[in-house]
Amino acid sequence: MCPLPHFFTQRMLGFIYKYTAKKFIPALLLCCLYTKYPDAKPIFALMQFSDIIAQANAKLQLAELVQHNRLSHALLFLGKEGSGALSLAMAFGQYIVCDTVNGKKKAAPSLFGGGEPVTPMTVATNDSCGVCPSCSKAQKFVHPDIHFSYPVVPKKSGDKPLSTDYVTEWREFIQQTPYGNVFDWLQFIGAENKQGNITVHECNDIIHKLSLKSFESGYKILIMWMPEYLGNAGNKLLKLIEEPPPDTLYILVAENESQILPTILSRCQLVKIPGLTTSEVASALTERANMNADKALQVASISEGNYREALQLIQHAEEDWQDLLREWLNATLKGGPLAQVKWIEEIGKLGREKQKQFLRYFNHLLEQSVRLKSMGPDSPQARNMPEKERDFAIRLNKLADINQQQAIIEELDKAAYYIERNAHGKMLFHALTIKLLHIIADKSLLLVN
Ligand SMILES: [Zn+2]
Repeated sequence: MCPLPHFFTQRMLGFIYKYTAKKFIPALLLCCLYTKYPDAKPIFALMQFSDIIAQANAKLQLAELVQHNRLSHALLFLGKEGSGALSLAMAFGQYIVCDTVNGKKKAAPSLFGGGEPVTPMTVATNDSCGVCPSCSKAQKFVHPDIHFSYPVVPKKSGDKPLSTDYVTEWREFIQQTPYGNVFDWLQFIGAENKQGNITVHECNDIIHKLSLKSFESGYKILIMWMPEYLGNAGNKLLKLIEEPPPDTLYILVAENESQILPTILSRCQLVKIPGLTTSEVASALTERANMNADKALQVASISEGNYREALQLIQHAEEDWQDLLREWLNATLKGGPLAQVKWIEEIGKLGREKQKQFLRYFNHLLEQSVRLKSMGPDSPQARNMPEKERDFAIRLNKLADINQQQAIIEELDKAAYYIERNAHGKMLFHALTIKLLHIIADKSLLLVN
């Protein structure tokens, strides 16, 4: 055999391996991962509008504000937990700095209208490109013109914490948990039971940062998550919001309008982010969390338009809330004080998140009971309920009439509210057990399997 072709083939194979396989094999593995876990997206590709669940109207409204130069200097994104308001704010920040969207001019056009004549956007696109250098930085949350502010806690007593003290944790958190809430965040930074704050020092830091010139994009953007945590310190920012430095944009992302300083609220343009619909949550679960359609719909219907809640429910899917609920009702109505204390001990150990989920699940079952009663057990809606759930709902209807169920729902809502605010779990469930007993009074029907 002629040695030359052999040698040549070997060299060629070596060459091919050296220059392609090293890249190709990991890429192939990544492709396999993708097929199996469609939610396993590359970690830094999350913040285009297209990455955010539903919210088509809000996305269009925001893009048009920019395209028509109708942007106000201070926007308040108001959306309940799990609606994606923070993700939208980040995608919007990226949209504004994106080189493709704003045509990468040396002097960027004013987005805010008024004053000098405005240069129109070069490309009327409704999403950032996701690949230009600015998008790439924004996606890693390291764009020098996009600043973040969020509640933090002192690292040691006497500390005057700034958001930037936690910037590494923040970047990690929003990559992993873009639909997370402030509780998740405070747990993430190990705050335990400490209350988070956006302090007066943070406000001074913001004033300082925004007084500097922009670095790259021509705009300076501050995304403040949870201005509810500002307290009176927020008044420091009023002047800045009222007379902003040129090309500065404040995006406040809040869940609860009533907890924001009225002086700040009145100076912001409101962008309402609605909760997701059940079918939007369900299809997000099917596409992103690889769930089958039936199960996704079931989880979505309990999550009430809150994608964070839906993800939490999946995580704890193995927990059988029905058993726990059955035990509670039996202990409350039949078991007497000893059984009640035993059950309260048990739920006391679960931790706040699971306690909240349990209450939410009970609420969901009560709603199903009301539905069953109004539509009849043979209606198509009733037949679509999971069988175990329908049986339980029928039992609940025997246990309590609509007024009683309504009273229980109100108590469950209140309890969830207090749990969120650090109420002592065992004491709360003790009080709730007594209330439940009073509401149902003597209609004590044993709930059996
Ligand atoms: Zn871009």
